[in-house]
Amino acid sequence: MKMSAPSLDDRATPIPVAHPPHATVGSTAAPGGLLSGPAVAGSAVTRIGILAIQGDFDAHARRVEKLGAGAIFIRTPADFDGLAGVILPGGESSTHLKLLDEECLRKPLVEFARNGGAILGTCAGAILLAREVHNPAQASLNLLDISVLRNAYGRQLSSNVCTLLTTLNDAPLEMVFIRAPIIESVGPGVTILAERDGHPILVQQGNILAATFHPELAADLAVHHHFLSLARKAASR
Ligand code: GLN
Repeated sequence: MKMSAPSLDDRATPIPVAHPPHATVGSTAAPGGLLSGPAVAGSAVTRIGILAIQGDFDAHARRVEKLGAGAIFIRTPADFDGLAGVILPGGESSTHLKLLDEECLRKPLVEFARNGGAILGTCAGAILLAREVHNPAQASLNLLDISVLRNAYGRQLSSNVCTLLTTLNDAPLEMVFIRAPIIESVGPGVTILAERDGHPILVQQGNILAATFHPELAADLAVHHHFLSLARKAASR
């Protein structure tokens, strides 16, 4: 196990956010509000929204685009229109919760989930999805039947990288943990796709997928690939 990881301690500090409609980057705007990407009509592309109010959203966009889907940064309720899937990135879950409410994004997000939309939550995103949050107790969206303990790895292990098998395929997956939570318990409807030291680290319930690590920081696209297949199936129903 390697004991070093990219230092992302600055994630504790909220990043000031501008609020362009359907965030587009520079002159790379593509059809349909996509950040950039496939040179086909926006409507033909699987559109994945990434909550972009704080934290680690950009790396997810790069992963999604690498797999041929379109990435949209979610900053306003209208950004949910036409999405096949939503990614809740890492960052600081307490800040995300606060900003979700301030930006009126909680309602459309919960509606998206209740309508069967596919959601991937990574680290802080997994904490947001949980039914119950401890250390300290914190409100959450209750969209995934798991109970989590925030910042649960000791100081020495608070950020680290390990390589473990998942049920997604036969290839061991590099996993970057940054001040990660531990999933303490899962409900009966939750499938465990990977474990570390006896604790689930990648779980799925219906179209909701959550990882306590950061798949967007590793080269292997397996988690995003699986998520995109969920999103495409959900969107085609
Ligand atoms: N420690 C953060 C929290 O509890 C999560 C860290 C992360 O997303 N890398 O919200």
